Parts: sequence; C-alpha cells; structure tokens
Amino acid sequence: MKSIQSNIKKAKKYLNNNNCVAVPTETVYGLAANAYSSIAVKKIFKLKKRPLNNPLIVHYYNINRLKEDCDINENLLKLYKKFSPGPITYVLKLRKNSKISKFVTNNKKSVAVRFPKHKLFRNLLKNLDYPVAAPSANISSRLSSVKASDVKEEFGSKIKYILNGGQCKIGVESTILNLLNKPSLLRYGGLDIKKIEKILKKKLLINTNLKDKISPGLFPLHYSPGIPLRINIKKSKKDEAFLLLKKRKSNLKNYYYLSKIKNMEEAARNLYSILRKIKNDGFKKIAVEKIPNKGLGKTINDRLKRASKY
Ligand code: AMP
Ligand code: MG
Repeated sequence: MKSIQSNIKKAKKYLNNNNCVAVPTETVYGLAANAYSSIAVKKIFKLKKRPLNNPLIVHYYNINRLKEDCDINENLLKLYKKFSPGPITYVLKLRKNSKISKFVTNNKKSVAVRFPKHKLFRNLLKNLDYPVAAPSANISSRLSSVKASDVKEEFGSKIKYILNGGQCKIGVESTILNLLNKPSLLRYGGLDIKKIEKILKKKLLINTNLKDKISPGLFPLHYSPGIPLRINIKKSKKDEAFLLLKKRKSNLKNYYYLSKIKNMEEAARNLYSILRKIKNDGFKKIAVEKIPNKGLGKTINDRLKRASKY
C-alpha cells in the first residue's frame, strides 16, 4: 500500500513538471500528460511520432470535473451513469473557457473524453488539479501496450516513468462515440455496442469507415505488429504464424491461440500480446483465421483489418 502511494506520488511529480508518464488503464496503457499544458501535450506527439492532426483522448476522474471543460448533454448522462468509469469515450462540445490545450484537440471545437476504471490511474487522477491527455502508449500505428514491459519495448529509456498496474483487463482500446449530434460510433472498442444501443434505446449510426474524416486519427494502417498480416485465412502458409480463435486438436509450432474456449472477451484481451509475441518469436508474416463478427469480435476484426494494411 505504501509503495502504491509513493508510486502515485512519483507519477504526479513527473506530470506536474510537464513530463509524460505511462499509466495503466483497463483498456491499454496510456502515455499521459497534463491536458492543460501545451508543453506537456506536445511531448506526447513527439514521443509517439504521432501526427499533430490526430487528437487525443482526455481522461477525467469524474463528471464534475468534466463540466469545467465540456457541455454536458442527455445522452452523455445516460451512458455515463451506466458505463463510466469504463471503456467508453465520448466526443463532446468544448466549452469556450476550457483550459484544454489546442494541441489535444487539433484546434477543434470538440474533445474526446473518458473516465478510466483502473484503480491506480483513478487514484492518480483524483490527486491532480488537471485532466490528463493520454493516447495509447505505443509508437504511432504500432500495437498498443497491455503490460508495463510492452511500454518499455516501445519507448526504452525515452519514457521517464511507468506506473505499473499489471496486465490490462480488457486489452483493446475504448469504444468511441460521437455525442455532438445523433450518437454515432467512431471506433469499435472494449464495450460491445449492443450494450450501448440498449441504453440509448436506438441503433447507433456507424461511422468507422477507414477513410472517415470525422475521426482523423483512425488512419487505415494502425495497430500493426510491423510485419505483414493476412485475414480470413483457412490454411496458413509454411512460413506464417497462424493466429486462431480456438484450440485445435493438432498443435503445430506456428499455431497461436486467442482464446481457450472461443470467448471473445478473452480473445480481445490476448490480441495485442499474442501479436507482439509472434513478432518477437521471429515470424516475418502472420495469417489469421476468420473471426466471427459478433460482440467484441467486431473490435478484433476492426483492429486486424487495419493491421492488414501493412
Ligand atoms: P488513441 O488515443 O490512440 O486511442 O486514439 C484516440 C482517437 O480518438 C483518435 O485517433 C481519434 O480518432 C479520436 N478522437 C479524439 N478526439 C476526437 C475528436 N475531438 N473528434 C473526433 N474523434 C476524436
Ligand atoms: Mg492508439
């Protein structure tokens, strides 16, 4: 307990000094900086090699603190009550007097906000006088980090501090909704959209098109292990790693499994670490079998499709 508090204190000190630190969330690790400080936020883009036109998600402790920066609407209240803190991000209208750095939003009048659930990160946020901008802790277009060691692999000594919170429970990024007008989906993620539609009592408009301009960050190539990846494959080639959803009877050396029991939550949780492992095991190509497009299978397919643009 004492060491947890001292680690949080350390992270806070770095953030107060306009530095970036890696933080654990229930989705993936984040690369965090003071969202009110342009000096701090610019360091995120530099470290990640992220294009400046790809806006960042801002993380808040609770909705009370959010009110200083954003206009609150009915849909937000409904969804917040049910799903936050959790793996859902809302795009909202920025208030005129908001202190959020223009580098966070790429000068837009809207901002993406989330209330993360991981205990350590919440504890840290509670102790700060500002919200935290935090994209995934990985080099732009590469695989997200789901363990402290992944963050280390991505940034080496360039990152000042990693708040180690163990392995991420969900393992894929948050589901992003645009709540500026009629609710629409901008990114599939860790929260099944069926659950969201149940609360809103209507179908979401789907706006996740690879070339969609609304969410400039959602570039076609993304979430890439850095080697070619083919999807919807029945039989792998000799030199490929073969990524499968469920254990097969025969167990070849190049077989990798997303889940023991064909469970989509488990598969999502394992996705990035297995892709990372395949690459670190020395494979130069990956084939992936067809994944059912249901529940979090939609999120997995979205990530694999983008990774296959390599
Ligand atoms: P990441 O931080 O890597 O998880 O990516 C965050 C994503 O959120 C970005 O790539 C954008 O697609 C989306 N996003 C962030 N801010 C906005 C915004 N103001 N409007 C629309 N989409 C946004
Ligand atoms: Mg990312």
